[in-house]
Amino acid sequence: MSARAGVVVTGTEVLTGIIGDRNGPWLSERLREVGVDHAHTAIVGDRPEDVRAALDFFAQQGMDLVVTSGGLGPTEDDLTARVVADFAGRRFVLDDALEGRIAVILERLTKRWPDLDMDAIRAGNRKQAHVPEGAEILEPVGTAPGFVVAADGPTVVVLPGPPRELQPMWEAAAATEGFRAAVAGATEYRSRMMRLFGIPESEIAETLRVARAEGVALDALEVTTCLRRGEIEIATRYEPPQEAVYEAFTGIVRARHADTLFSEDGTTIDEQVAALLRERESTIAVAESCTGGLMAARLTDLAGSSDYFMGGLVVYSDEAKVALAGVDPSLVARVGAVSTEVAEALADGAHERLHADVGVGITGVAGPGGGTEEKPVGTVCFSVVDSGSGRRLTRRVQLPGARADVRDRSTAVALHMVRRVVLGDSD
Ligand code: ATP
Ligand code: MG
Repeated sequence: MSARAGVVVTGTEVLTGIIGDRNGPWLSERLREVGVDHAHTAIVGDRPEDVRAALDFFAQQGMDLVVTSGGLGPTEDDLTARVVADFAGRRFVLDDALEGRIAVILERLTKRWPDLDMDAIRAGNRKQAHVPEGAEILEPVGTAPGFVVAADGPTVVVLPGPPRELQPMWEAAAATEGFRAAVAGATEYRSRMMRLFGIPESEIAETLRVARAEGVALDALEVTTCLRRGEIEIATRYEPPQEAVYEAFTGIVRARHADTLFSEDGTTIDEQVAALLRERESTIAVAESCTGGLMAARLTDLAGSSDYFMGGLVVYSDEAKVALAGVDPSLVARVGAVSTEVAEALADGAHERLHADVGVGITGVAGPGGGTEEKPVGTVCFSVVDSGSGRRLTRRVQLPGARADVRDRSTAVALHMVRRVVLGDSD
């Protein structure tokens, strides 16, 4: 039996969606890494009774561990620590030494803002130095300490809300005795990831059926598939003795989806394109219209300053396509800006103007009201040219969704085309 955990994310701003929850998913990944089954995340507002109800729920569910985020600040509405002390049946006590350590941090802050109300600061300092008696303290990264405390039921890990504070404190939390004892029953898991591009999810469902029919013991694996930006991710978790089952499963995926399976080791398309370009010592540049710089942004994500990415031209208007990417205005007049011909001219323009080995051109209809019957919203034309080998790949595709989806998917299509051209495919 594996250890099970619940996460309590506190904060009215997270509950209402003003701030998207970044801690629940992040903690989920960390729990998974240490082999703990994350069963639920409860998002609750800043009300003590709601935080308490979530803790009680997890206790009833028999969780070994509960991780909380948020509500550790200096103000009165930050009440997680007190609620957890109650829940654990501990006295809520002032830790003098901790108060001193927080005071040192505050001193640095008050030097930056000399006009602060010192009484309020001292009160906040004292409030934040209260912890349940006997808790293991996690030193603050900001001003709020966290702690780990065993309750009658689950052990509770209490962390602050700001992700830049919560994340560095996780490691300290996972090293505490309380945490280790709570997850002692954790199973060792292996996590693997395959990625495919250009097939519908139903095909994977069929492959799972085939694998079962061919005798692969899929029940020994925990397989989750997820569709993202037109890519399918197959995430699998299993206990080490089931390695052979996973190998049999990948064998079937490989055989049935040879042309769309692009990653067996979990690497992303961005990582693969970066690695391929570096390996070849090639440079790349992009001229993009409907994606408005997003392709360039994705290419900068992994690149260094004197690396493979030369830069990008954002050529939204016809004038910009002509002036910046050197597209022939009579071509635009003849075939229209959204055309495979203009995509090719943009790829050539990016390659020539920025002296890059590989040029990428993207032109399409992403915006509302921009479509026509012949070229509806979601029509996007792509071209990738590799000047070294003379290889070129040009495509016109119809992408689903609203503007943001079309743009996002477009960058994925373009990156996959770059990969294929660099690997040696052409039209
Ligand atoms: P503080 O001392 O900053 O008040 P805290 O532990 O009391 O710390 P909260 O008051 O719950 O934390 O949250 C402070 C801020 O941290 C929020 O306004 C928000 O910007 C960010 N934050 C909190 N929880 C989350 C979350 N789950 N996901 C993303 N950001 C969060
Ligand atoms: Mg707060």
